[in-house]
Amino acid sequence: MKQIVFATGNLHKLQEIKDIAGNSNIEFILPPDNFNPIENGATFEENSLIKAREAARLSGKISLADDSGLCVQALNGQPGINSARYDTTPQKRIEKLLNALKGQQNRNAEFVCVMTLVNPQGQILIQAKGKVSGKIIETQKGTNGFVYDPIFEVDGYNMTMAQMSECEKNKISHRANALKEILEYLK
Ligand code: IMP
Repeated sequence: MKQIVFATGNLHKLQEIKDIAGNSNIEFILPPDNFNPIENGATFEENSLIKAREAARLSGKISLADDSGLCVQALNGQPGINSARYDTTPQKRIEKLLNALKGQQNRNAEFVCVMTLVNPQGQILIQAKGKVSGKIIETQKGTNGFVYDPIFEVDGYNMTMAQMSECEKNKISHRANALKEILEYLK
């Protein structure tokens, strides 16, 4: 079994990764406790690489990082790379986004995830981008998932990401799409 450090402090994300990877013969482990990267990149690609390199530097192991966010068309791609810092709590982030879109006809959005796999020396082995498109609805629906999931209705499905079971989300999500490419590389 291969051990790979998954560069996150977000246990929800780690669980999603483990579920998506299923029985791929990879054990994803958390980075050391002092993992605290400075995410000052200008793109998902840069931030994902910063996190992967920091995890590799601290652990001395192959490391995988994701950087993800919600890009809203009518807001020129915001909150984008700032999705986690858009406001102080998950509920406030949702409310701020709904306010920003008040009266807006164009509700198109996409979740984006860039994953970067680096070797213990911090060199890029592969970088993969996954997306899922949808619409921002006006009221929250569903209780699964996290943060923006209850207001993101997935294109082609008559439900929000938060109304999907974990299993359904993990088949179509931005993270699943990016991870599939990484797993293919690791085969
Ligand atoms: P990161 O941890 O720096 O990559 O920030 C990702 C942020 O994007 C999260 O804190 C959420 O605000 C948002 N995000 C990314 N993926 C999802 C998802 O699957 N559901 C809901 N929000 C997400």
